[in-house]
Amino acid sequence: MSSPWQASAACAPRLDLPWTADRADLTEWQAISMTAICDACPVLTACTSAVAALDITGGWWAGTDRDPLATEPTSLVPITWRPLLTRTGRSLGAQAALDLDGLAAA
Ligand code: SF4
Repeated sequence: MSSPWQASAACAPRLDLPWTADRADLTEWQAISMTAICDACPVLTACTSAVAALDITGGWWAGTDRDPLATEPTSLVPITWRPLLTRTGRSLGAQAALDLDGLAAA
Protein backbone atom coordinates (compact mmCIF):
# COMPACT_ATOMS: atom_id res chain seq x y z
CA MET A 1 0.00 0.00 0.00
CA SER A 2 1.44 3.37 -0.97
CA SER A 3 -0.64 6.54 -1.15
CA PRO A 4 0.37 10.22 -1.15
CA TRP A 5 -0.96 10.75 2.38
CA GLN A 6 1.53 8.20 3.68
CA ALA A 7 4.35 10.70 3.12
CA SER A 8 2.99 12.57 6.17
CA ALA A 9 2.48 9.50 8.35
CA ALA A 10 3.70 10.13 11.88
CA CYS A 11 4.61 6.47 12.22
CA ALA A 12 7.06 6.49 9.32
CA PRO A 13 10.09 7.70 11.28
CA ARG A 14 9.20 5.57 14.34
CA LEU A 15 10.70 2.30 13.27
CA ASP A 16 11.57 1.63 16.90
CA LEU A 17 7.94 0.66 17.54
CA PRO A 18 6.39 -2.69 16.49
CA TRP A 19 3.63 -1.44 14.17
CA THR A 20 3.00 -4.87 12.66
CA ALA A 21 3.14 -6.93 15.85
CA ASP A 22 0.22 -8.78 17.36
CA ARG A 23 -1.37 -7.07 20.34
CA ALA A 24 -0.42 -9.93 22.62
CA ASP A 25 3.26 -9.30 21.82
CA LEU A 26 3.21 -5.60 22.71
CA THR A 27 4.15 -4.06 26.00
CA GLU A 28 1.68 -1.61 27.47
CA TRP A 29 4.20 1.18 26.86
CA GLN A 30 4.41 0.30 23.16
CA ALA A 31 0.62 0.26 22.79
CA ILE A 32 0.26 3.60 24.57
CA SER A 33 3.07 5.12 22.50
CA MET A 34 1.58 4.02 19.18
CA THR A 35 -1.87 5.22 20.22
CA ALA A 36 -0.46 8.64 21.10
CA ILE A 37 1.46 8.91 17.83
CA CYS A 38 -1.66 8.01 15.83
CA ASP A 39 -3.82 10.44 17.80
CA ALA A 40 -1.47 13.27 16.80
CA CYS A 41 -0.93 12.06 13.24
CA PRO A 42 -1.85 14.63 10.55
CA VAL A 43 -3.22 11.90 8.28
CA LEU A 44 -5.23 9.95 10.86
CA THR A 45 -8.48 10.39 8.93
CA ALA A 46 -6.97 9.17 5.66
CA CYS A 47 -5.31 6.27 7.45
CA THR A 48 -8.57 5.27 9.15
CA SER A 49 -10.38 5.29 5.81
CA ALA A 50 -7.63 3.32 4.10
CA VAL A 51 -7.43 0.51 6.64
CA ALA A 52 -11.23 0.18 6.59
CA ALA A 53 -11.37 0.13 2.78
CA LEU A 54 -8.55 -2.37 2.54
CA ASP A 55 -9.97 -4.51 5.37
CA ILE A 56 -6.60 -4.60 7.12
CA THR A 57 -6.85 -6.97 10.03
CA GLY A 58 -3.34 -7.04 11.42
CA GLY A 59 -0.90 -4.68 13.05
CA TRP A 60 -1.43 -1.27 14.61
CA TRP A 61 -3.10 1.25 12.34
CA ALA A 62 -4.96 4.49 12.96
CA GLY A 63 -4.58 4.24 16.70
CA THR A 64 -5.80 0.71 17.29
CA ASP A 65 -4.86 -2.90 16.97
CA ARG A 66 -6.46 -4.18 13.78
CA ASP A 67 -6.54 -7.87 14.64
CA PRO A 68 -10.09 -8.80 15.64
CA LEU A 69 -8.91 -12.18 16.88
CA ALA A 70 -6.09 -10.84 19.04
CA THR A 71 -6.43 -11.51 22.71
CA GLU A 72 -4.68 -10.27 25.77
CA PRO A 73 -1.88 -12.52 26.94
CA THR A 74 -3.22 -15.40 28.96
CA SER A 75 -2.01 -16.00 32.46
CA LEU A 76 1.31 -17.68 32.82
CA VAL A 77 1.51 -21.43 33.18
CA PRO A 78 1.89 -22.23 36.86
CA ILE A 79 5.17 -23.83 37.81
CA THR A 80 5.53 -26.10 40.79
CA TRP A 81 8.79 -27.40 42.19
CA ARG A 82 9.17 -31.05 43.03
CA PRO A 83 12.06 -32.50 44.98
CA LEU A 84 14.48 -34.34 42.74
CA LEU A 85 15.77 -37.38 44.55
CA THR A 86 18.11 -40.21 43.76
CA ARG A 87 16.87 -43.80 44.01
CA THR A 88 18.29 -43.92 47.52
CA GLY A 89 16.46 -40.75 48.55
CA ARG A 90 19.35 -38.30 48.44
CA SER A 91 18.29 -34.85 47.36
CA LEU A 92 19.56 -33.46 44.06
CA GLY A 93 17.65 -30.22 44.42
CA ALA A 94 14.34 -29.44 42.80
CA GLN A 95 12.81 -29.95 39.40
CA ALA A 96 10.37 -27.51 37.84
CA ALA A 97 7.11 -28.95 36.64
CA LEU A 98 4.65 -27.12 34.40
CA ASP A 99 0.97 -27.60 35.08
CA LEU A 100 -0.33 -28.01 31.54
CA ASP A 101 -3.65 -29.57 32.51
CA GLY A 102 -5.45 -26.25 32.73
CA LEU A 103 -4.27 -25.07 29.30
CA ALA A 104 -6.42 -27.48 27.33
CA ALA A 105 -9.57 -25.90 28.75
CA ALA A 106 -8.37 -22.32 28.11
S1 SF4 B 1 -2.72 7.21 11.98
FE1 SF4 B 1 -1.09 5.97 12.94
S2 SF4 B 1 -0.79 4.19 11.62
FE2 SF4 B 1 -1.95 5.74 10.44
S3 SF4 B 1 -0.39 6.88 9.32
FE3 SF4 B 1 -0.77 7.98 11.22
S4 SF4 B 1 0.74 7.23 12.69
FE4 SF4 B 1 0.68 5.77 10.98
